Amino acid sequence: MSHAPMSVVYSEEAIRQRIGEMGEHITRDYDGQPLVAVGILNGCFIFMADLVRTIKVPLRCDFLGLSSYGNATKSSGVVAITKDLGLSIADQHVLVIEDIVDTGLTLSYLLENLRTRNPASIRVAALLSKPARRQVHVHVDYLGFTIEDRFVVGYGLDDAGLKRNLPAIHVFDE
Ligand code: IMP
Repeated sequence: MSHAPMSVVYSEEAIRQRIGEMGEHITRDYDGQPLVAVGILNGCFIFMADLVRTIKVPLRCDFLGLSSYGNATKSSGVVAITKDLGLSIADQHVLVIEDIVDTGLTLSYLLENLRTRNPASIRVAALLSKPARRQVHVHVDYLGFTIEDRFVVGYGLDDAGLKRNLPAIHVFDE
């Protein structure tokens, strides 16, 4: 467990405000069409809870559990589904909800998998993106914040399982 000093990068208020804007954008784009929000566990749970409450269209929530093997802080791109969707997404508009897009490997694997289930459309909402780390291109339709290549925690994001419960997003001081 790390006790290194940390600084707030996005406060609770900054996150709330940005998510409100994202929700308005999503609400406008879907224009009353029903939506299946698919959260990628575990990191999505706080972001998803806040985001879905700002989206004003008929909405179902479902979850996908993924594990990537290898180093805890570096994605290996090897992903296994540990919990599959409970709903069929065939002919449904799907909004994938992810905490952070880092290398892009997780999301790219996942989108490929979801496309085989014949949804009407798939879009992606991510709270954070680290473009400097990208290994494969993934299109993020709704993005909260772009950050530099630093490890962040809080608001659902963990450090070896801990710190998900911090209300703001923090970075370890260098
Ligand atoms: P990717 O496959 O490299 O895009 O990895 C995405 C996943 O890695 C995210 O869903 C997070 O679980 C984890 N991750 C990447 N960067 C961070 C970070 O800065 N803090 C916490 N988790 C991270």
